[in-house]
Amino acid sequence: MAERPYIVGNWKMNGTRAMLPEARAIDRAAQRNMKVEVAIAPPFTLIHAVHREAEQIGVGAQDCSCDPDGAHTGDISAAMVADSGAKFVILGHSERRSAHGETDSLIASKVRSALDAGLRIILCCGESEATRDAGEAENFVLDQLRSSLPDTDNAAEKVTVAYEPIWAIGTGKTAGLEDISAMHGAIRALLVETYGEEAGTAVRILYGGSVKPENAREILALSDVDGALVGGASLSAESFLGIAVAA
Ligand code: PGA
Repeated sequence: MAERPYIVGNWKMNGTRAMLPEARAIDRAAQRNMKVEVAIAPPFTLIHAVHREAEQIGVGAQDCSCDPDGAHTGDISAAMVADSGAKFVILGHSERRSAHGETDSLIASKVRSALDAGLRIILCCGESEATRDAGEAENFVLDQLRSSLPDTDNAAEKVTVAYEPIWAIGTGKTAGLEDISAMHGAIRALLVETYGEEAGTAVRILYGGSVKPENAREILALSDVDGALVGGASLSAESFLGIAVAA
């Protein structure tokens, strides 16, 4: 685990202004526990408000367009995301890949746009259950990453990878500890191959998929697991902070 684990809440399409007290509570607790780096990715509509509430926690978005501006009704550019106060953006989440048909090459162009706008990225990867059962999980995940990891000088600062097996997201099932360890080790090797020993070792790799206070400690204790990307359990300050404490 990294010296300072990174715990990121992905609120998905949840949250109105009524959720702001949760963000405030998370921020207050983060101010008291500096051993863990905490961040939230609320829906676009709350980024600015959470950014204003939160002094200690990082605020990010869950997606951005690959286009800089123009006639793209309903889309939000990376520069707009940055302007709203976000410091990072989650890209390549499996829900965007499946529900919005996002391909590796689209994700690669979103990655470039986000970096150009000065955002850090959390790049998601993960296999389906069928791919795992076929023994192809590692090849599949590494291929996803090879096609969208950016060519950048300061990768450790700009890039975080999140490994999220699709079948573990929102299902209550988590991957086995040995499988998580093996996949994170394979991702680490790819990062070192891509960015060199020093930067590749420093890029953080998060695990995501049904992380909760009860299972966080054993997952976060694995080598090459530098933090967690948390969906459902990030919607209440109590459970999200339970994960941060376990880290
Ligand atoms: P979950 O979601 O924690 O609800 O499984 C994780 C994610 O999709 O990032």
